Amino acid sequence: MLQFHNTLTRSVEPFTPLDPDGKTVKLYTCGPTVYNHAHIGNFRAYLFEDLLQRHLEYRGYQVERVMNLTDVDDKTIRGAREKGVPLADFTKPYKDAFFEDLQALRIKPADRFPSATDPEHIARMIAMIEKLVADGHAYQADDKSVYFRIASFPSYGKLAHLNLEELRPSGRVSSDEYEKENIGDFALWKAHDAQDGDVKWDSPWGPGRPGWHIECSAMATGLLGDRLDIHCGGVDNIFPHHEAEIAQTECCTGQKFVNLWMHCAHLMVDGRKMAKSFGNFYTLRDLLDKGWTGREVRYVLLSAHYRLPLNFTFEGLSGARSALQRLDEWQQRLTDLSSTARKSEPYSAMAGDKFAAALDEDLNISAALGVLFDLVRDTNRAMDQGELSPEQARGLLDYWQGINSILRLEPEVAAIPAEITALLDERTAARAAKDWAKSDTLRDELLKHGWVVKDTKDGTKLTRVGG
Ligand code: AMP
Ligand code: ZN
Repeated sequence: MLQFHNTLTRSVEPFTPLDPDGKTVKLYTCGPTVYNHAHIGNFRAYLFEDLLQRHLEYRGYQVERVMNLTDVDDKTIRGAREKGVPLADFTKPYKDAFFEDLQALRIKPADRFPSATDPEHIARMIAMIEKLVADGHAYQADDKSVYFRIASFPSYGKLAHLNLEELRPSGRVSSDEYEKENIGDFALWKAHDAQDGDVKWDSPWGPGRPGWHIECSAMATGLLGDRLDIHCGGVDNIFPHHEAEIAQTECCTGQKFVNLWMHCAHLMVDGRKMAKSFGNFYTLRDLLDKGWTGREVRYVLLSAHYRLPLNFTFEGLSGARSALQRLDEWQQRLTDLSSTARKSEPYSAMAGDKFAAALDEDLNISAALGVLFDLVRDTNRAMDQGELSPEQARGLLDYWQGINSILRLEPEVAAIPAEITALLDERTAARAAKDWAKSDTLRDELLKHGWVVKDTKDGTKLTRVGG
């Protein structure tokens, strides 16, 4: 049985989708603010969500996933102003870089990646705010901005487990909060000011731009409907972002917005959250430049349970490299042994799918990887002693392929350079002409370039030396 920890109830609960057929799972995940390159702390969150999605799919669910891109907020506006370029020109390269990084980390793309500035979503944000104002859940203050009235939503604080009373001002209110009725009221619509330059949209309250929280409520409900199965983010999103999303959305729809809230703990550096503002961050590019690979970073960020803080170190990356090497060698041994197998047979000593069973328990990846490495150790030993049949090796490879649809830790496929393809084509032609001497010369030439050619019954195979 699948079960996950729900931030709303602070307990691990059985998972049941809203879909009456029990098939489709609607998942919304808060995406990056595109004012800079995402750092690997952000990617810890996206990798936890990737693990969640892939495991749900392994269990037969169809996941409909949306991840937003926050491309209008204080930071993006400031960045565009400092560079002297239009907002969209400023955010575009960071959006592109984000998609490249997702690919390098083998994160399955969401079905939709809406941008907050898409006109359809801006229109929906305005419509939601209009409804909130009409129903008394929001008001326009003297500064022309529109705020959500938290006093109008008695369960405000239920996600973060905060007491509404504690959010009331106890004495003096800081001077820049004077416009609001309550210090906890948050902006739905920010009135245009000089700092915003030409970033503004017309609205019933005058020119301005949406607040961050309403962006997610509008994109989530606009693309997935009023009710979601799961909503994810990092723990820093719980308050105020997700708390605000619940309040706005539930006041608009009159329904429970999200059944299951899942949040991952932070990636830390020396006991502190990895964050742009602390300057203690690495982007994926920083690590690739140092010679680490996307799959090594994927391994490090995936291998700790999502609810436990993870300390980022270079020793951790080295450990990932060794672990992956073990898996590669195991896969290669099984591949070699299974080459004569005519069919696939289960490995006799393996009882059930313990790997997936571990993930069923709130994505217990540490236990799942423990199961995997026990299997690697036991089957390597069986191979050492000649006790594993080619058919069982094939069976293990099939199993590995299945669980690797969740882990996605297979070796990198090296791109074949054009000159190598040309040499290979030349060699294929020489073989066709039965010019064996030329074919051998070309094979040696390829080897000098670091590529091994093997002629098998299934055709010619090209691999990297040592790959
Ligand atoms: P941001 O671009 O700051 O809105 O963050 C995007 C996502 O990354 C959010 O879900 C954050 O909760 C998450 N996040 C930010 N920093 C970290 C970190 N150090 N560890 C894990 N997740 C993080
Ligand atoms: Zn969000």
